[in-house]
Amino acid sequence: MVRPRAYRHDVRCPDCGSNWMAKAGHSKGRQRYKCGDCGRTYLPEGAYHRPGPALREAGVRMYQDGSSVSAVSRHTGYSVPAVLGWLKKGGARH
Ligand SMILES: [Zn+2]
Repeated sequence: MVRPRAYRHDVRCPDCGSNWMAKAGHSKGRQRYKCGDCGRTYLPEGAYHRPGPALREAGVRMYQDGSSVSAVSRHTGYSVPAVLGWLKKGGARH
């Protein structure tokens, strides 16, 4: 890996959930990031710790459709404890 990587608390890769990233230029005036682990480039919005309602609903639906918590975690980019937290709050069950 040639690019310098930086650990960021406020942004997270939507694919693998990694907080390691390298800057990847700008898009529409906003900083773009490149994941230091899987190499995906993304804009920080939607990658913050607090899941948006749409992402959360999608995760809950995945879980109700039989996906495991770790699969939901991978899909949404949020940690397993975070996913468990919103499943519990939403009363989701298999
Ligand atoms: Zn990644």
